[in-house]
Amino acid sequence: MADSKPVIVSGIQPSGILHIGNYFGALRQHIALHKSHEAYYFIVNYHAMTTLHDATALRQYSLDVALDYLALGFDPDKAALFLQSDVPAVNELAWIFYTLTPVSQLEKGVSYKDKVAQGLSANAGLFNYPVLQAADILIYGGTRVPVGQDQKQNIEISRNLAQKFNATFASEERPVLPVPEPYILDDVAVVPGLDGRKMSKSYGNTIGIFDEGKALKKKVMSIVTDSTPLEAPKDPDTCNVFALIRLFADDETRERVADAYRAGGYGFGHAKKELLGLMTEYFAEARERRKDLETRPDFVQDVLREGGRRGREKAAEVMERVREAAGLIRTH
Ligand code: ADP
Repeated sequence: MADSKPVIVSGIQPSGILHIGNYFGALRQHIALHKSHEAYYFIVNYHAMTTLHDATALRQYSLDVALDYLALGFDPDKAALFLQSDVPAVNELAWIFYTLTPVSQLEKGVSYKDKVAQGLSANAGLFNYPVLQAADILIYGGTRVPVGQDQKQNIEISRNLAQKFNATFASEERPVLPVPEPYILDDVAVVPGLDGRKMSKSYGNTIGIFDEGKALKKKVMSIVTDSTPLEAPKDPDTCNVFALIRLFADDETRERVADAYRAGGYGFGHAKKELLGLMTEYFAEARERRKDLETRPDFVQDVLREGGRRGREKAAEVMERVREAAGLIRTH
């Protein structure tokens, strides 16, 4: 099967409020790519169930993710945004992949081991997470997966599964599934959280993309810094506050603040105020759009419904070839 034009696919978990790590590590790229490529972005609510068993919260977080994408500039006329559970065939493909996956490969999963080490229950869903992720990618014929560095290993499993499926059920000359590539944008650094560790929902150290007012101020003021006194020169490159400032600032502001750090007489309180101003400004338009979207739930439903329809249509094409190749007879 010729794989000429790249197909961009990516999933985002509705397991909590999306934060600025998610924005700079994932959403920003998704938004930038979807207008010029065939793209499928899905809200992976089946995946979220590996850690979330609260129906009300799952429903709310799922709709929140849709609102976030739309507010941040996702154009539903250009690409598909939908709920993972609106394309149930991913579970069928995941099952086929389970039969091709050695348990030992999943046992080595870094993200599985991390989550269990953090105290999450080792349920079979969590263990099999990368296999469902592979099904998500391959069922839409995805060839480019924009992800952060931390997801590279999981994409490797998707690549292996595509190759293994082709080797088992097809041939190298006439593969059924294209082999996807991770698409890691080089300037995506790991965004630090309030405590200086990687910003992550599971560490409770996040700043929400749409946090504002007092709540935002409180979080920014609580960012951990060292105890260098106000008058002393400081190294911007080792400071959490500056690491965030550089994401939001233009070149001129970034240089001005870096110079102020190095000169001394500029405290972390000053830097935090600068950051607060920058963040408030950066997401101002998106915040307004989100508030407007909140008053139009029918529009959001329509976007997801149409996205789901496009997702199912594409998945049906791929699954027909997969079933045929694997010998799964269908009588209807
Ligand atoms: P979380 O750790 O908050 O649960 P996810 O694992 O759901 O976040 O990540 C969703 C996407 O956001 C992934 O592509 C991931 O690489 C990116 N991402 C998450 N946290 C960060 C971070 N602190 N810095 C950069 N990218 C991040």
